[in-house]
Amino acid sequence: MKRDEIVRRDKAHVWHPYTAMDAWAAGDPIVVGWAEGARLYEPEGRAYLDGNASWWTAALGHGHPRLLRALREQAERFAHVALAGITHEPAAALASELVAIAPAGLKHVFYTDNGSTAIEAAIKACVQSWAQSGAPKKNRFVALEGAFHGDTIGAASLGGVEVFRRPFGSVLFDVVRVPSPAPGEDEGDAYLRAFDELHTIVEKTADTIAAVFVEPVVQGAAGMRVYDPTYLHALRGLCDRHDVLLVFDEVFTGYGRTGPMWAATRAGVAPDVMCIGKAFCPILPMGAMIASERVERAFRGARDRAFLYGHTFCGNPLGAAIAREVLAVYRDEDVLGQVAKKAPAIERAFARIAEIPGVARVRSIGMVGAADLSRDAGYLEQKGWKVWEAARARGAYLRPLGDTVYVTPPLTISDGDLDQLLAILEESVRVTMADR
Ligand SMILES: *Cc1c(COP(=O)(O)O)cnc(C)c1O
Repeated sequence: MKRDEIVRRDKAHVWHPYTAMDAWAAGDPIVVGWAEGARLYEPEGRAYLDGNASWWTAALGHGHPRLLRALREQAERFAHVALAGITHEPAAALASELVAIAPAGLKHVFYTDNGSTAIEAAIKACVQSWAQSGAPKKNRFVALEGAFHGDTIGAASLGGVEVFRRPFGSVLFDVVRVPSPAPGEDEGDAYLRAFDELHTIVEKTADTIAAVFVEPVVQGAAGMRVYDPTYLHALRGLCDRHDVLLVFDEVFTGYGRTGPMWAATRAGVAPDVMCIGKAFCPILPMGAMIASERVERAFRGARDRAFLYGHTFCGNPLGAAIAREVLAVYRDEDVLGQVAKKAPAIERAFARIAEIPGVARVRSIGMVGAADLSRDAGYLEQKGWKVWEAARARGAYLRPLGDTVYVTPPLTISDGDLDQLLAILEESVRVTMADR
């Protein structure tokens, strides 16, 4: 199909996520014909560096031959069966391989369809496990300001990014909202004050709290807000003292995005439940909740104690086979070692961007770098979109979060491509900020 025809049919019938459709109708979209490594290609050949690894999924780049082979080989055996009353090698082997590398104590893998449903599973597992452990009153959740845990109703209820909540506020359930540990303007020790407030609330109301949900170390969708892992260490202690479950949402931060395999490692703590998605299975929708022995044990016994939860495609063999191969590639290509070598280039680039007049603040960690182009850097601000246009003209796809521009490239991006991506970003920020 010709490019024009694709665009015509799209504009007539495709409703895009997180997209103002009038602006979309007026614009000229990127049309991807194929993708390889860190690049997306238009059908007629124009290339874009994939600055956000396609919404944080393509940690191993596009078209990795080993993932495609795993997909092909599994598809030839069988592509899908239910996971109720049935098992298969991809699901069983993947679970054991995940548990072997997960933070200590996480032993039971519950497969879901994506990140949001991994969070939904965690919400329900926490509630039901307390109900079946003699503490049915523990049914409320603590979540952070600026949290993002996905877009289904439960996950969105935990969410603390105000613009994303606003349209649905009337149907979301109440959570106990606590301050973000991520520093704002001139407050390097924000995590201390944030922890004090959390501490007070948990101390008073622990008997009604099922769990605390956090994105460890980086609040992604809030604008790549990085905070001190000491907070997580203190939080683990608090949850232990007051018998509250701790859930880490590693959907974004997992798989080496911040350096180590799990952001939890940066704090040296393990949660009771961990949710994963995105880079876990980079080419098919798949997520998982991994629970501790204690959480899972609450579901043992009589039949009516079972976790009454499941998605049609959970444990899909294609996704599981790919996810196993992802783990093998991480080992064989020393992906985490590559991150350690490349992260300093991101840090240096953002240190330069910080010097551009008008840039409010920057931060970087592992394969994440972000800059706020205004003090509030709200999601509906427009400067980030000017950077997006400037970067597109220079050959990079850099979708902003309002006035926060960021890179989260494939972890395996070559040094040359990374330098080029960072140069395009820096130049695009420069021309945007000069044009005020
Ligand atoms: C993307 C994301 C989710 C939701 O994952 P989906 O696959 O989009 O449902 C949940 N938590 C975090 C931290 C995320 O970044």
